Amino acid sequence: MSDLDRQIRYLKGVGPKIESLFRKVGVLSVKDLLYYFPAAYQDRGRVVRISALRPGEPAVISGKIIVVNLRGRKGVFSRKNNILSVIVADSSGTVECTWFNQLYLKNSLKKGRDFFFYGKPSLYRNRLQMVSPEHEPFRPGVECGFCRITGVYRLTEGISQKRVRKAVSQAIESLDAAVKDSLPSYIRQNLKLPGLKASFENIHLPKTLEAANAARRRFIFEELFFSQILVYLRKAKRVLTPGIRFGIDQEFIGQIRGKLDFSLTADQEKVLTEIFSDMGKNHPMHRLLQGDVGSGKTVVAAFAVGVCVRNGFQCSFMVPTEVLVYQHYETLKELFSGFGFKIEALTSGVNRQKRDDIISGLDKGTLDIIVGTHSLLEENVRFRNLGLVIIDEQHKFGVSQRALLPRKGLNPDCLIMSATPIPRSLALSLYGDLDSSLIKTLPASRKQPLTVVVEENKREWVYELIRQKVKEGRQCYIVYPLIEESENIDLRSLEEMFSHLKEVFPGFAVDVFHGRMKKEAKQKVIRDFKENKVRILVSTTVIEVGVNVENATVMVVENPERFGLAQLHQLRGRIRRAGYRPYFILIAPDSISDLARKRLDIIEQSSDGFIIAEEDLKIRGPGDFFGSTQWGYPQLKIANPLQDLDLLSMARRAAYNLVKSDPGLKKPCNSEIREHLSFWLEK
Ligand code: ADP
Ligand code: MG
Repeated sequence: MSDLDRQIRYLKGVGPKIESLFRKVGVLSVKDLLYYFPAAYQDRGRVVRISALRPGEPAVISGKIIVVNLRGRKGVFSRKNNILSVIVADSSGTVECTWFNQLYLKNSLKKGRDFFFYGKPSLYRNRLQMVSPEHEPFRPGVECGFCRITGVYRLTEGISQKRVRKAVSQAIESLDAAVKDSLPSYIRQNLKLPGLKASFENIHLPKTLEAANAARRRFIFEELFFSQILVYLRKAKRVLTPGIRFGIDQEFIGQIRGKLDFSLTADQEKVLTEIFSDMGKNHPMHRLLQGDVGSGKTVVAAFAVGVCVRNGFQCSFMVPTEVLVYQHYETLKELFSGFGFKIEALTSGVNRQKRDDIISGLDKGTLDIIVGTHSLLEENVRFRNLGLVIIDEQHKFGVSQRALLPRKGLNPDCLIMSATPIPRSLALSLYGDLDSSLIKTLPASRKQPLTVVVEENKREWVYELIRQKVKEGRQCYIVYPLIEESENIDLRSLEEMFSHLKEVFPGFAVDVFHGRMKKEAKQKVIRDFKENKVRILVSTTVIEVGVNVENATVMVVENPERFGLAQLHQLRGRIRRAGYRPYFILIAPDSISDLARKRLDIIEQSSDGFIIAEEDLKIRGPGDFFGSTQWGYPQLKIANPLQDLDLLSMARRAAYNLVKSDPGLKKPCNSEIREHLSFWLEK
């Protein structure tokens, strides 16, 4: 076992308690600890004169304790209830330092002794004081241990910065100078990146911020490099995997075109060509189709479905919600009427008898197309000859769920669709092994939405706008942020709002829609809304994905600060369907944070999903993105592909060259890489 793989409990000063606290932040081995990088640094290199201390500005001072005062709190003194304060003096002045309930400190913080202190001064009764500063005795000729650039770590409860730093120093000390570097030296030398041991030292205990930065770049490169190697290896493997070669019958394609009452946009045509080219090859398609809400991805996917079935194979089309299942089912049914394709819909709401029929039809091959929710993933759903898998709104599914569906066939083609645009740099690191297609422009008939954020005092104005638009014949959504639909409190407030709105709009049919309604009730409401019998629909975000009612052009969102930006953008897509001008009104409470305001500004100013996604990621950081959306890659902890663009392209180039020259990672000079990736290679 190498040094790095040892459990941290073998480090000096790390007992079972500290070990279990570290475990909570995912740190088990010495390696984990060394890769637990500081989130920021404090520059404590300079000792400040006491007279120069400023409230709120952390600083190091050096001085003599001239007064010690130990007292109880509120007149009671005990071990657990006491205040120790000392007055520290240097040649420029004095300052008070205070500790609560740390009685043991009285043994070291004695009158007449010289100390370094580090802390953030604050004003108390008009005088500066430091509460619980770090401290260390001053010894002539000995450097101050914390008077340097010091890493600040993400913490979990029960563990202090001091503890983390101590453990990390121990780990670094324990490192063999010859510790094996996962980056081969030829790559490091080529790209002028520092070695592993030096990088650990410099990222945790840097002498200068430049040194810290150089180490950081090395680790960022390392993360991106390894993920890109996997990307290229997977791509290379796919080219060698045999797949289905579909015949593309242009006459048949023409017939489908003839069924549409519009012509495809230039972008749709381009994507169609890309998909057909993939389908015509004898290895499996693996394509990500991105396009903003309403850009017309479904139609494009439908052509692929048609080609698949025409070639005698089955198609499985997975979507995240029941509403969307029936919508796609209707679309496909209409489009393929007269072709003799057998198509069904499968959701958890389908009754036993029907479900059995569907399952048997898929198994026997009498059913050609199945549109369904994650019900499709159940084990007893088997296919006779699955040729094409389509996953819509892919981000709504987990990594393992998405991987499951293609396994129900023998290397079927896969088309993955997303309306949450992923900026290119992120897409490369997350989905780099997918080929990617993009529908950029919406059909020309779409009007730019008018988006306004208003405050509570404009509510009457909003209601008046709704009245006016409904009188003109349009329909309206009013959306509530029920994060957890199972929460009764939220549902109650939705019901209350529903009764309130019925009073506000006595002349119009108002109805309500949420995920916990009975299936029949849900279907009825959606049908009534589609048929314009319901004019105003009060709803939760279940309508976010896919409800397609062209006449609905007004959407009011309550408490928009509780939604993600991507989600707001999706919601807005629901009203960008027809030739009427859409109105998207966000009613924000009077007091929201600056950050929340900034995010709403983005929505107000842009209707381009890519810009919104990019801005949102800049504000939030890509953390969330990696949490849920990765496609079987190691997690990026330090790299941020949105910011580290130069390192990303460096890593891509290096990974590409590596896989090209050594596709099996068999060369001795690449053995470290193979070892480092062994877990992922086996997957
Ligand atoms: P999304 O990309 O959000 O899945 P859809 O495929 O659901 O979008 O398309 C939204 C609506 O736009 C559908 O009603 C569809 O019929 C229509 N549509 C698709 N392509 C075009 C086009 N080229 N011109 C006009 N309308 C189109
Ligand atoms: Mg769609």
